[in-house]
Amino acid sequence: MKDQIKVNLGENSYSVIWQDLILSLKKDIEKFTEGRKTAVITNTKIYGIYKKEINNLFKNSLLIILPDGEKTKRIKTIEEISEKLLKENFNRDSLLIAFGGGVIGDITGFAASIYARGISFVQVPTTLLAMVDSSVGGKTGVNLSQGKNMAGTFYQPKAVFICCEFLKTLPKREINCGLAEAVKSALIMNKVFFSFLEKNVENILNKNINIMNLLSKESVLVKAAVVEKDEKENLLRGILNLGHTLAHAIESWYNYKYINHGEAVSIGLSFAAFFSYRQGILEEKKYHRIIDILTNLKLNKNISNLPGQKKPKAEELLELMKKDKKNKKEEIYFVMLKDIGQYLLPKPVESKKLFLALKEFYKL
Ligand code: ADP
Ligand code: ZN
Repeated sequence: MKDQIKVNLGENSYSVIWQDLILSLKKDIEKFTEGRKTAVITNTKIYGIYKKEINNLFKNSLLIILPDGEKTKRIKTIEEISEKLLKENFNRDSLLIAFGGGVIGDITGFAASIYARGISFVQVPTTLLAMVDSSVGGKTGVNLSQGKNMAGTFYQPKAVFICCEFLKTLPKREINCGLAEAVKSALIMNKVFFSFLEKNVENILNKNINIMNLLSKESVLVKAAVVEKDEKENLLRGILNLGHTLAHAIESWYNYKYINHGEAVSIGLSFAAFFSYRQGILEEKKYHRIIDILTNLKLNKNISNLPGQKKPKAEELLELMKKDKKNKKEEIYFVMLKDIGQYLLPKPVESKKLFLALKEFYKL
């Protein structure tokens, strides 16, 4: 399958292009690399697995191989990359290629957005999370010691190249992260996509290439539709935060260890559905369908399954939810569902209501 979606953002528009085979990406990528200085940014783990493919796809490029892991997502790395680029005489016409998951995408996008006041970059996402979510939308950034993704820019890539062949080597836990975001996309605005997920559980768990192509395509369509209307995160883009208010609180409670983003998001989605149902906004049978898809896709939907002996208390999670950077003033902005495929815009919710629902949710 070769397929394409355009993300329409005026002069910042770009295409997301699908190919079935890694080596088929070569021709598409060459349209961007031809005649310009290019650097590929990846990490040791991905390079270990895809050395042959990287050397084949990017013959004349400078290779920048970073250590694997979230720890690399720091300003210092941006400085090091920029200095390497300058040493190699990279200029305004040069191109960066992000070859990896969300971490590599965020770092590369940020470096591209500030080097020489901004140079072009393209994304080759190698994780499902990056394919369905982070490679589209233009958020870049690094962590500060006090906060995740607290330094960054909005900066769109010139193209995104998706190839589900990369998923063959991606560990199950990482696949789950992407699946949680795909379920989120279906829930906010595409009930047909939701039914597709319900019908294809087996194929998804087996990473069937045609099904994963469709899954990533539908997710990108949702993301593109939202970002096209609200590029820089006013109210509408906030709907992409469905399930994330609780997810961020859980991740933060665990200090971003032991539980990864998608795992926290799947619990957050289950809570958002429960809360919407308890507020009388979502029908009970729809709530159960949401729990069923999370269960069938083997995603965690329950706080009691969280790792470790000591679990976060409802009070602690509520306090952390109040600190979410998406909130305005002291109110907790929460995204609810009216139906499967129908979001409600984020709105302030009384913390007492959230607390009571959380208490109940703990016992499910
Ligand atoms: P995400 O895209 O979910 O934000 P990361 O960028 O942190 O996640 O990637 C998750 C982990 O998976 C990292 O250790 C990364 O090096 C590794 N990784 C990325 N792509 C692949 C792949 N195709 N196969 C195996 N491991 C991969
Ligand atoms: Zn997310």
